[in-house]
Amino acid sequence: MGTSTFALKARLDGLCQRYDTAGALERDPLSLLNGYYEPLDCEVVAFVAAHLAYGRVDPMIRAIRAALAPLGARPAAWLRERSVLAVRKGLTSALASWVWRFHTGADLVAWLLAWKRLDEESGQGLEPHLLPGPDLATDEALSRLVQRLRTELPASYGSRFSLPDPLEGAACKRWRMFLRWMVRTGWPDHGLWTRYPADRLIIPLDTHVARVSRYIGLSHRATPDGKMAQEITESLRRLDPADPLRYDFALSHLGILGDCPGVRKRSTCAECPLYSVCRAGSESTGRISR
Ligand code: SF4
Repeated sequence: MGTSTFALKARLDGLCQRYDTAGALERDPLSLLNGYYEPLDCEVVAFVAAHLAYGRVDPMIRAIRAALAPLGARPAAWLRERSVLAVRKGLTSALASWVWRFHTGADLVAWLLAWKRLDEESGQGLEPHLLPGPDLATDEALSRLVQRLRTELPASYGSRFSLPDPLEGAACKRWRMFLRWMVRTGWPDHGLWTRYPADRLIIPLDTHVARVSRYIGLSHRATPDGKMAQEITESLRRLDPADPLRYDFALSHLGILGDCPGVRKRSTCAECPLYSVCRAGSESTGRISR
């Protein structure tokens, strides 16, 4: 590991110290899993929360809470104990006026019925549907599920928004985030899926992670797509081979919490642990503006 790699790792560890906190977690949809104790209940909450995790964080968290409210304290049990007809009827009525940006109540009913159908097939929730095999890579497994859901879910904008395909080059941020929450064992994730290969997780790439990753040289790609997500994950693997995604929460929250102005200046970036390795505002010249 070269000196600059050591420096980058030290800076990113500092970023984790700053953002890996209960306060930052409160403003993350992952916090919505708190209060659920059964793994399958957490899975249903994560399946809903991750796929609605876009837009401004505070109204988004309120919308997800409202979406989950009809399912009560045991969402998986609620879905399992009712017939398809009863689930459809109960949720359609409860979510008639619910909406979160591209998603309507009808999209959410279809999403939860999809979970119920997949769980009835596997008897173990979603994990078996996303497991790779001897002839199936992790992204092929995800693609297979996405393609299936494209045929089963209504062709609404909200449903399509939830179904990007990694084999079509998409970053699949919300699926990657769902997988991180369910598979990774370190804070703040839940590590409830024990058969999925943790070493094949890919970073959930959002605009914040893409931007800051470019500033600090984790990626030089211009488009925040699946290839950039792979490249950033590989760059982070060089810093922490066992757990590259441990930097994801801090990288994204630097942007989510509005702490990164996008131009490196002492006056606005004094508290940023990445200051000495950041090239924001100077990518074209290679110079750091002081
Ligand atoms: S622009 Fe400033 S706040 Fe953003 S990553 Fe660079 S040094 Fe940190």
